[in-house]
Amino acid sequence: MFRAGVVGLISMVALPAFAATAEPQTEFLAKAQTTEVWSPEPVVVSPGLDGAPPSDAMVLFDGSGFDAWVGDQGGEPDWRLIDGAMEVVKGAGDIRTKQAFADIQLHIEWATPSVVAGESQGRGNSGVFLMGRYEVQVLDSFDNRTYSNGQAGSIYKQHIPLVNASRPPGQWQSYDIVFRAPRFGKKGTIVSPAYISVMHNGVVIQNHVPIEGSTEFIGRPQYKSHGAAPIKLQDHRNPVRFRNIWVREL
Ligand code: MG
Repeated sequence: MFRAGVVGLISMVALPAFAATAEPQTEFLAKAQTTEVWSPEPVVVSPGLDGAPPSDAMVLFDGSGFDAWVGDQGGEPDWRLIDGAMEVVKGAGDIRTKQAFADIQLHIEWATPSVVAGESQGRGNSGVFLMGRYEVQVLDSFDNRTYSNGQAGSIYKQHIPLVNASRPPGQWQSYDIVFRAPRFGKKGTIVSPAYISVMHNGVVIQNHVPIEGSTEFIGRPQYKSHGAAPIKLQDHRNPVRFRNIWVREL
């Protein structure tokens, strides 16, 4: 009885025009179909569990080696492999992907050293550079005050994260990044800035913010025309670890 009553109620709510005008059902449904879009049909993707890559992702690092990476000067990266992760080796330099990317979804996990050393920008500093230029800061920002636009999850010196979702040092953390590359006109002028959204440990910390130009330590960011470019990970002289890195081109 109760179930039949609910179904009747849903029908009345869903089909008010039909019910009110007694319009023939075929005509009523035909009108509804005029706003249905059937093409294109989204490709089927099997989602990964707990940060595992979806079926259409390109795996950039699964713990087994540096196949997808080169050192900043070319050649095999001088970072070390340890416990299914890669670890920055102080002074070895940045590393970058062999492949160039533009619009992407990026998943990357990182951990700052469990033994806390240094303070402010000197504690667990690294970075994820989209297109080799636009840095999402990696830092131990757990009880470690620094300038807000330089803490973990900042778009370095451009955008303060909405909240500080940091886990304690030594624990694995994740960034899920949606990045739209900048668009340049024929003469190299900027037509549309890059946009970025970042989730830190599942928490939105950057919500579709415009990037003002390449990351600068000193001075204002500026755009210089460029095409697709590698993702870069920073050697900031702290032994930060990365694992489970995958990308989807959008
Ligand atoms: Mg950094």
